[in-house]
Amino acid sequence: MPRSERIGIFGGTFDPPHMGHVAAGRAVQDALDLDRLLLVVANDPWQKSPRRAITPAEDRFAMAEALAKEIPGAEASRMEIDRGGPSYTVMTAEALLAEAAEAGQAPPAIYLVVGADLVSELGTWERSEDLKGLVTLAVVSRPPVASTAGAVSGKAQPTPIPPPGWRVERVDGPLVEVSSSAVRDVLERGGSVDGVVPAEVMHCIRRRNLYAVGR
Ligand code: ATP
Ligand code: MG
Repeated sequence: MPRSERIGIFGGTFDPPHMGHVAAGRAVQDALDLDRLLLVVANDPWQKSPRRAITPAEDRFAMAEALAKEIPGAEASRMEIDRGGPSYTVMTAEALLAEAAEAGQAPPAIYLVVGADLVSELGTWERSEDLKGLVTLAVVSRPPVASTAGAVSGKAQPTPIPPPGWRVERVDGPLVEVSSSAVRDVLERGGSVDGVVPAEVMHCIRRRNLYAVGR
């Protein structure tokens, strides 16, 4: 029997993608050598959308496709966009298992890739009790979330402790001190994010006139 496929779910708003996502994705591939690493674009990031305007999902998907070119074995995934509604990771994991079953394949080993900042929030996710039985967490190191884009630092951080019951693998990557929020702030003020946002993503932002760039 062929070994089961190893699939990573790297979910995000990707509004926009940046070098922190690139570093995290590459570190995961170095550590886990996944057959597929899905950059799953949240359709409606329900924990964020009540608090701020989110860039349309199709624009974020186009940017995620540009991001995928920077990470070996990565592909942008429309699963949550096509499903519509709020984005619940548990449904994405269940859909991957159902797809394999329908194709007569062994159930895939699913790795849920999260930055260290999300670990303490896992208990607030939809049906997190079900989710933890379906996936192994791959927790990627991330420095405390930055307020400005641009800096790359080697600062250490405490290892986050996941809620009980999760299978966990720690993935140590370079600590890239950048967030999408910081990138949006810089772009909207007309600043430069060279070196912080991959060039292909930046082309996509210009082509689609996102974040008031080019206006
Ligand atoms: P925002 O500022 O809008 O919250 P973000 O930079 O956190 O954006 P998301 O799209 O929310 O980006 O993140 C998707 C995933 O990537 C999350 O698991 C997050 O922890 C991880 N991630 C984001 N930035 C980094 C980084 N600099 N280093 C490691 N992981 C990161
Ligand atoms: Mg975030």
